[in-house]
Amino acid sequence: MNSIQNIIKPNVKAALYADDLALICSEDSCGIAQVRLQECLTLLEQWTDDWAMAVNAAKTTYSIFSLSTKKPNLRLRINNSLLEKENYPKYLGVSFDPRLTWYKQIETVQKNAWIPGHVDIFGNDVGDQLAKEGGMMEQIQHNPSYNEAQTLINSALDCHWSQEHPQHNSKDATHKLSRAERVTIFRLRTGHNRLKHHLFSRFRIGVGPKCPCSANRQDAQKVLQDCPLLDDARLKHWPEPREMNQKPYGSALQLGITAEFIYASDLTI
Ligand SMILES: [Zn+2]
Repeated sequence: MNSIQNIIKPNVKAALYADDLALICSEDSCGIAQVRLQECLTLLEQWTDDWAMAVNAAKTTYSIFSLSTKKPNLRLRINNSLLEKENYPKYLGVSFDPRLTWYKQIETVQKNAWIPGHVDIFGNDVGDQLAKEGGMMEQIQHNPSYNEAQTLINSALDCHWSQEHPQHNSKDATHKLSRAERVTIFRLRTGHNRLKHHLFSRFRIGVGPKCPCSANRQDAQKVLQDCPLLDDARLKHWPEPREMNQKPYGSALQLGITAEFIYASDLTI
């Protein structure tokens, strides 16, 4: 994937995270940005062809960040599909807004990370205190410079990454697993998976959150520990009972067994 950087022209920046690619072009005129980005998209199309890959045009959007109220529609194509405009794109968990004020991102972070007035939780107390102090200071209204924006994005990405990988440490045996096994284990750990409960509650995908066996929701706990439909597979993989919180953790061997159980269960995780 990193050789993608070689096809990017100097006036376009590329931000690559796993298989997520953002192309960024800053110009005085949207017209020029459109030409430069299209040039890149065409090269990208060739590059993906060369590597027998394809960009999912339906999942590709463009956004315009500008203080100008005029934000024309651009004609950007990949694989002959015209890209849709997205005013509030989310990239790696960071929410953008058309004027780059970060208000969307701040809203999200506040909602998720900090409950005002919630005492006795160390982080929240500190957050309360900082909010009070910040509120008493002079409020400066300004648009962040490119460097500030980059710092904000990077720290938000770091934060996002640590949230997604709460158990990250170098001793974690997941690095000894295959990529597919690693993905399975992380999905079980984080709850960001394709089990019915998450798909339905988060994305309204599927007919409901319930496990086929009962009225209870299908989540990692259900699948790994409780669902009677998986009793046989469970007994085969863990002849000795193993606790829920041990299954997605432990040695590479144990993690491999957990991943193997998921594959044997025919579940899409
Ligand atoms: Zn079940």
